[in-house]
Amino acid sequence: MSRSAVWHPFTQHATEPVPPTIVRTEGAYVETREGMRILDAISSWWVITHGHRHPKIMEAIREATDTFDQVIFAGLSHEPAEQLASALVDMTPAGLDWVFFSDSGSTSVEVALKMALGFHRNNGVPRSRIAVMEHSYHGDTIGTMSVGARGVFNAAYEPLLFQVDTIPFPAAGREQETLDAFERLARDRDVAALIVEPLVLGAGGMLIYPASVLAELKRIAERFGTLFIADEVMTGWGRTGTMFACEQAAITPDILCTSKGLTGGALPLAATLATDAIFRAHYSTDRARTFFHSSSYTANPIACAAALANVGIWNDEPVAARVAALSRTQREKVARFSQDPRFDNVRTTGTIAALDLSVGNAGYLAEVGPRLRAFFLERGLLVRPLGNVIYVLPPYCVTSDELDCLYAAIDEAAELASESR
Ligand code: PLP
Repeated sequence: MSRSAVWHPFTQHATEPVPPTIVRTEGAYVETREGMRILDAISSWWVITHGHRHPKIMEAIREATDTFDQVIFAGLSHEPAEQLASALVDMTPAGLDWVFFSDSGSTSVEVALKMALGFHRNNGVPRSRIAVMEHSYHGDTIGTMSVGARGVFNAAYEPLLFQVDTIPFPAAGREQETLDAFERLARDRDVAALIVEPLVLGAGGMLIYPASVLAELKRIAERFGTLFIADEVMTGWGRTGTMFACEQAAITPDILCTSKGLTGGALPLAATLATDAIFRAHYSTDRARTFFHSSSYTANPIACAAALANVGIWNDEPVAARVAALSRTQREKVARFSQDPRFDNVRTTGTIAALDLSVGNAGYLAEVGPRLRAFFLERGLLVRPLGNVIYVLPPYCVTSDELDCLYAAIDEAAELASESR
């Protein structure tokens, strides 16, 4: 394979093999130019929900291109966005009444942060700080890196990142420390918002925490007038077992970010949902209170049509039952590793399973990551460990047999890792 001109994301071109060229995607698989079918066990960075190229989504895209390309969304509107906005209001926790569209998970978070600052300022009591949870990931733009964990990923850009207040991750047995830390911060009433990934911190290592902590964080935020931002970019659309993870804590966040599974993974689109109070803070005859944000492709009609088809699939097909079955299957399949000394920790939440390989030095740059990727790829499996954390986050069409093959390979990988120690 010869190198192309493409500079790939999160790829060290000096040491990593040339990425295989994919020529086709279907169901749970992607296929290389050489004809190798690869099981997409990570849903192509967590975006594919039902499976690659769901026919109803593809059809909706084809149909939309008969009448649309892009339409400016300031000063003009269109039906795909309007219909999608009302569908999202219906599907998300009650009380999220306004939908602001953008193009990626990162931009949906940037929008959320700006809404939070705008809310307090427009209400005449500006607040200046953002509280975040240790180990979080919210994207790779300057703002989203600022509210994410600091480390090797963003060390070079540190001078541009703004300061935030970090509360500890609520590890088992230490939940109260998290709550106390947040309460101490919120008390001085300068924290505009707390942003969290509800129930599971994805890129930070698939770290799971209980819904009760989420509910309590929301209560504390409410008590001190701090807005609560739920970044459901990864957790939305069934990943944690419910449509949105916040449902498990029975909370309505003030702001909810969604992307990835919004179009079933077919096209880039994101939405930031907000309460009426946040909208009202920006609703004024004083034009200086306008919510000053846009991107050129905001609410792309074709992407909105894809998202509407995705919503239709959730309404018309037994997706919730598929998610429940996959969640059960995942739990059963990882159970055999739960007492296995080759793993430090094995856990699942909804359709997601994660296994921490016991390999000593386990930072993101640990050699074990790329070695594991190559090991799995040779076996036709797309798995992208986070350091020593092997996780399985498949599309909902994956079969039990396919997962058996995958877990057999994980078993083999663990064996090799323990031999080479
Ligand atoms: N927020 C969370 C929780 C994510 O997991 C991600 C991406 O993985 C993002 C935000 C950023 O989304 P995007 O890569 O679409 O910008």
